[in-house]
Amino acid sequence: MLEDLAHIGRDPATGGYLRDAWSAADMELREWFWGEARRRGLDVREDRNGNLWAWWGDPSRRPGVVTGSHLDSVRQGGAFDGPLGVVSAFAALDLLRERGFEPSTPLGVACFTDEEGARFGVPCLGSRLLTGVLDPARALALTDDAGESLAEVLRRRGRTPEGLGVDPVTLAHVGSYVELHVEQGRGLVDLDAPVGVASAIWPHGRWRFDFHGQANHAGTTRLEDRDDPMLAYAAKVLAAREAAVRHGIVATFGKVRVSPNNANAVPGLVSAWLDARGAGEEAVRALVAELAEGADVREESWTPIVEFEPLLRDRIAEAAAQTPGSGAVPVLATGAGHDAGILAGAGVPSAMLFVRNPTGISHSPAEHAEADDCAAGVRALANVLEELCR
Ligand SMILES: [Zn+2]
Repeated sequence: MLEDLAHIGRDPATGGYLRDAWSAADMELREWFWGEARRRGLDVREDRNGNLWAWWGDPSRRPGVVTGSHLDSVRQGGAFDGPLGVVSAFAALDLLRERGFEPSTPLGVACFTDEEGARFGVPCLGSRLLTGVLDPARALALTDDAGESLAEVLRRRGRTPEGLGVDPVTLAHVGSYVELHVEQGRGLVDLDAPVGVASAIWPHGRWRFDFHGQANHAGTTRLEDRDDPMLAYAAKVLAAREAAVRHGIVATFGKVRVSPNNANAVPGLVSAWLDARGAGEEAVRALVAELAEGADVREESWTPIVEFEPLLRDRIAEAAAQTPGSGAVPVLATGAGHDAGILAGAGVPSAMLFVRNPTGISHSPAEHAEADDCAAGVRALANVLEELCR
């Protein structure tokens, strides 16, 4: 299945993926999901927020166990972040059927829309809308780099923007959620384990900084006459790094927009996005407050710490450990946000399985997972689902 997806949205120049939500690539990925679901005789549907659900059994009779992930990517992302979870969900379902397992609880495969927030700046858009933590009016007004709003994009794709927002009916189908994901750091590599279980997701957020100045000619404007916002931005980047070290967290300016963005002009405006995360909310908040002093800052998203339910986590670690080839299953916290975190925040018992990433690199074409480790992940996920759907 990963091979079937390999060409979709791939930048031939870099090998990285460009799978923005609702792009042509995303539409093709959605098509693929429908095909895989139908081929397995699952009941597939798209909810009001654009998330996809494929059901084995009827979740309106009894809430089901859902597994899945997302198919969109960051710009120039890797092949595994997201797709590995969706592919593993279908593969685990196949394995359960091979074993002759008949779930007494409905089993669902989910694909959440716009998990990365690459296009509109807010991550986990689909799960945030579904659970009501994001105001649909705010979501619909978000614009992409081309200036197109989410409302316009949805309408062009034949969707109904007015339908966006909290969806208690769909949410009630989700009795619990298990997301398998490629690990995005070196935790499992260092522990020499192919599969791990998440304990918590660090609190994290995104902030937009606008640095205002006066656009002017790069040749004729004397240095002392300049009002150059690039200097303020550069100082802020260095300050963020220094503060992150001091607070023991991570902080990143990874996106910047310069206006007018001419090589021969002093910029008039620099907009930059800060991403900050850490084990403790206080440290993250303190760093942002320091950097925000005297700056034009807007919080674009905030996700509090998510501690996965210990009971479900332990059950999952135990079921996963029954898998030949998976060995001991370590439990680790992660700095990466996921839809499982949003669902957990909304009261859905949720858990995550990680599959080792030998490069330790993610959100890059260098992201990787060995076939054997992926297979161990599928077997672990199948065991977990068997345990939960009994
Ligand atoms: Zn992901």
